[in-house]
Amino acid sequence: MTFTPTDYLPYDFANRRHIGPSPAEMDEMFATLGVGSLDELIDQTVPASIRQEEPLDFGKPKSERELLWAMRQIAQKNTIFTTMIGQGYYGTVTPPAIQRNILENPAWYTAYTPYQPEISQGRLEALLNYQTMISDLTGLEIANASLLDEATAAAEAVTMAERVAKSKSKAVFVDANCHPQNIAVIRTRCAPLDIEVIVGEPEALDPGAVFAAVFQYPGTYGHVRDFTDQIEALHEAKALGIVIADPLALTLLKEPGAMGADIAVGSTQRFGVPMGYGGPHAAYMACRDAYKRAMPGRLVGVSIDSRGNKAYRLSLQTREQHIRREKATSNVCTAQALLAVMASFYGVFHGPEGLKAIAQRIHRKTERLVMGLEAGGYTVEPELFFDTVTVEVGALQGVIMEAGRRERINFRRVGTTKIGIAVDETIRPAVLEGVWRAFGLDYRAEDFAAGYTRLPVQYHRTSEFMTHPTFHHNRAETEMMRYMRRLADRDLALDRAMIPLGSCTMKLNAAAEMMPVTWPDFSNIHPFAPADQVRGYTEMIEDLSAKLCTITGYDAMSMQPNSGAQGEYAGLLTIMAYHRAKGDEHRHVCLIPVSAHGTNPASAQMCGMDVVVVKSAENGDIDVEDFRAKAEAAGDNLAAAMITYPSTHGVFEETVREVCEITHAHGGQVYIDGANLNAMVGLARPGDVGGDVSHLNLHKTFCIPHGGGGPGMGPIGVKAHLAPHLPGHPETGGEEGPVSAAPYGSPGILVIPWAYIALMGGEGLTQATKVAILNANYIARRLEGSFEVLYRGRNGRVAHECIIDTRPYAESAGVTVDDIAKRLIDNGFHAPTMSWPVAGTLMIEPTESETKAELDRFCDAMLAIREEIRAIEEGRIDRDNNPLKNAPHTVEDLIGDWDRPYSREEGCYPAGAFRVDKYWPPVNRVDNVWGDRHLVCTCPPLEAYQEAAE
Ligand SMILES: *Cc1c(COP(=O)(O)O)cnc(C)c1O
Repeated sequence: MTFTPTDYLPYDFANRRHIGPSPAEMDEMFATLGVGSLDELIDQTVPASIRQEEPLDFGKPKSERELLWAMRQIAQKNTIFTTMIGQGYYGTVTPPAIQRNILENPAWYTAYTPYQPEISQGRLEALLNYQTMISDLTGLEIANASLLDEATAAAEAVTMAERVAKSKSKAVFVDANCHPQNIAVIRTRCAPLDIEVIVGEPEALDPGAVFAAVFQYPGTYGHVRDFTDQIEALHEAKALGIVIADPLALTLLKEPGAMGADIAVGSTQRFGVPMGYGGPHAAYMACRDAYKRAMPGRLVGVSIDSRGNKAYRLSLQTREQHIRREKATSNVCTAQALLAVMASFYGVFHGPEGLKAIAQRIHRKTERLVMGLEAGGYTVEPELFFDTVTVEVGALQGVIMEAGRRERINFRRVGTTKIGIAVDETIRPAVLEGVWRAFGLDYRAEDFAAGYTRLPVQYHRTSEFMTHPTFHHNRAETEMMRYMRRLADRDLALDRAMIPLGSCTMKLNAAAEMMPVTWPDFSNIHPFAPADQVRGYTEMIEDLSAKLCTITGYDAMSMQPNSGAQGEYAGLLTIMAYHRAKGDEHRHVCLIPVSAHGTNPASAQMCGMDVVVVKSAENGDIDVEDFRAKAEAAGDNLAAAMITYPSTHGVFEETVREVCEITHAHGGQVYIDGANLNAMVGLARPGDVGGDVSHLNLHKTFCIPHGGGGPGMGPIGVKAHLAPHLPGHPETGGEEGPVSAAPYGSPGILVIPWAYIALMGGEGLTQATKVAILNANYIARRLEGSFEVLYRGRNGRVAHECIIDTRPYAESAGVTVDDIAKRLIDNGFHAPTMSWPVAGTLMIEPTESETKAELDRFCDAMLAIREEIRAIEEGRIDRDNNPLKNAPHTVEDLIGDWDRPYSREEGCYPAGAFRVDKYWPPVNRVDNVWGDRHLVCTCPPLEAYQEAAE
């Protein structure tokens, strides 16, 4: 027998998992591009002046088995205690069917934000369910499809109220009973906008002195108060009432809408979403109908398709940052879609009766707990409570906290003489006995029976909620499973096809990287758990921070921001704090190129900066002369320049160092938007190129899945001089205020980038970058001649993405960028990024994950579309009745009458479409304008279904 060594490497080695093209495919691609090797292409593409000197070295890459073993070692350094800390985070039971079919299901977690509604009907329905549930629970007309966390949602509510309130005051009142992190984030967000924050007990509110007041319901120490009188007084003073409400409590308690509240916000974490040491979870916002146009975040609405059938889509998008830029209602882009979907299914699973039963059980247990404590002689506050109480313990605080630890229970330390206790749905009767023991009391759970004396009738909710049929499915798991499957099948996610979304980096989220997310020793940890119980998390976060510093060339990282846009905000605040510390309060100008992502100007505006827009040169680069002139004009007032590298035009600009030098020469700081880091890892470092601070989108470059519009993580890296000014947190300290509710943002998903880096090693990460550049250049080469590639760098190469121009076809054939995007659906693809950074263009980013076969399928589809355009140009087919204008085609087009000048087959099965595994969009083209004119943002009433059935 002869033994022949082969150069084939099994799946688990040499990073074949993440690198799409096989070695043989790469050779073919080199031939197409006329290069001899990958390194030759990279040398042609990435300017030598920015290349990093040292290769990345993180030791030997781990195999999947090694990775999971290493993760287990880290996970075991976390200790799971029973959590009774409360303060906005609670134990919850994720129904296993939701964990498996949604949280662990790539059909849900690899989807993109539903900007293309025809391929997103499943998640849009789930999000509409979420909005309906929130709107019902809060008693307010309109709810959005999630915000980042409760604290930022509260801050968004404050700035929203400032915009819409008729009061001329520049002060907001914040109830001292709000969770400390909510008060702290509101303070952070108000400071740059010169909004005064007055914190006090609700009785101290002077309605005439403020434009709004924020109350927490129930309060952080457990108080249940009715704010109806305060809100009425606020309205008389032309001010607004904002209530931060626990949605589970709202199943039993009078809802904010019934108190007259204008805006309600809160966290849906306890609706089946694990704590994850702080996140990710979905925050909600609901408001009165009158204020809907001022609302931040995404809003799902109901519209119709070209056949007049019901179809969902995002509404009122003109409020959003990508259109409104510095005038936007907020900078929120990535939110928490996947977690909102989980919470909505928790609601679908339990229905209103189930949710109420859970809340009642929690309340009864709390009542029994209190009966025991009171029988034992303790003074328990408040008189009326839902699930949280505060016990006066005097000098015994330390002793009882310690005794709690022996029972493996975490309480909340309140002041120096009190202990806070919160009950959740995971608390069993045996835990109550443990609590009593910790307080030196010896009772059995059966010793006390709840009497419902602590929530008098006037506090009870009297209105119905979640009456819609979607919350009254047959609750057999069979039905639930099929409902989740049906919705998933309506969507096109990465588990079906390439999603070539420029700037969004839709790369593989490998299964091995995802697995630890749902391990209990990562998921069941409260963000304010004692340090000695989170050693695993601490080790992982420190290690990841160090590696990200090495990758980016920065000296320190903050893991707090929960999205790229939050990173921008945090980074710009850091810059402003630095200027302030140097006595440079006057620096307020931020230079931003016209091609910047909409979040850039929106974030700068939130920091109180004045945005000055810099032109692009003909070739798409920053117009350096314009930049210099504007920097000079700003002079001593220059605070920062925000640039993106490689540029949003998909080019490694040669002038980046010059732009940074000009900024520094005027005393400004350079913010480099790191969303395009996938083109740099291992090749160049933003910190070396001249950046002082960057955010990294871990949900782009580092494999956290997009989740259909979140979660995300946008940590920022900074140079040493900025490190002292990074966000702090009331629980962990620091000079500056926090930008997120939890000290490390959403640590529950940080295991994913950690795992990705461990699996790739330095060399693998660099290889990924190179192949991302190879794949983009391959597409640019295959499309050129048919489509114009708008911007190129040196040697005619593009970076990791390329922009193609479709504007000529509007003129020649009446075909818009939208028509091409919808026609790609017929081919089985998600459209590239549309009309950004240049209107009428498509920005294509294949990432390293896609194989040559998939790239070819996409290019074939694009070339076939070009031929269809040519047929219109040459008059061979009607300008208004053709496959592009009628796209996407559905099963409805296959059956029934057909009177079109092309065949059904041409319509439904264009090039690239799979014969057997064809993706069928569930609706024809969605009419966005109709939907905005007839705005409906909750599930349509039952009658609508009956009409449809008739
Ligand atoms: C995605 C992106 C952002 C915003 O990131 P989010 O996480 O969605 O807030 C900012 N800048 C650029 C260039 C991006 O591509």
